[in-house]
Amino acid sequence: MLDCVFKGYPHDKYRCPHYPYFCEGDILTEVLYMKDIKGCYLREFDAMVVRSDEDNSSVELSKTAFYPLGGGQPSDKGFIEWENERSAVREVIKRKGILHFLDGPIPPAGKKVHCSIDWNLRYGHMKMHTAQHLLSAVIWNRYGASTVGNQIHKDRSHIDFHPASFSMEDLKSVEKEVNDLIGEAHSVKVEEYPRELVEKKVEKGKVDLSRLPASISTLRVILIGDNGKIDICPCAGTHVANISELGRMNIVKRKSKGSGKIRIEYELL
Ligand SMILES: [Zn+2]
Repeated sequence: MLDCVFKGYPHDKYRCPHYPYFCEGDILTEVLYMKDIKGCYLREFDAMVVRSDEDNSSVELSKTAFYPLGGGQPSDKGFIEWENERSAVREVIKRKGILHFLDGPIPPAGKKVHCSIDWNLRYGHMKMHTAQHLLSAVIWNRYGASTVGNQIHKDRSHIDFHPASFSMEDLKSVEKEVNDLIGEAHSVKVEEYPRELVEKKVEKGKVDLSRLPASISTLRVILIGDNGKIDICPCAGTHVANISELGRMNIVKRKSKGSGKIRIEYELL
């Protein structure tokens, strides 16, 4: 047994029973954006290389603030620097461990490095991702349609809903509700809830918890508004601290995907 670096939870070598999404594999990487919203705003950090793979140009780090591709959100990009060397972080992928793929020289294991994130890209993703929570919550409350897929991009994102039958006219009113909520400037918080509490607080159908392994007993949840009055949703992603940061949502497109599925495309202005 190894100690999980996240709050010292007990941890087996390949699967953390609490947070499998950030400490799978035999390298324990502390994920700096997980603990609280403040962590999502970390643009630079120091770490140590714990594994270096010249063959596929990747490194694993003792800690990272880079978001790896997943959950409909693209990977972060940025730079790793050490001594007189500097490499671009091209892509970050979870594959047992969290692999940082580099363009440029590869620092060896044991090397202390300074890392910086492409903040413009990341902040765009954080805003779009938080907007996804908000839009999904409004659609769920109005129409009982679940979010069954999503793809975040910095400039334009989409969410798939099912079962869905709303019109573009309905979506104008949804857009207004989302923008009214943004205007109310609700805070966003990260908390840990026991799984039973999430099952009680999050309505059935809104989020499919059955896909999470039964061994996961504590979930990271994202709360929008006081005590999550606007939305409570389990999520491992990066979010903004207050929805006022989203600016204004513009629903650009409604597209029927067949079998009662509707895709909504949106941007933030
Ligand atoms: Zn999220």
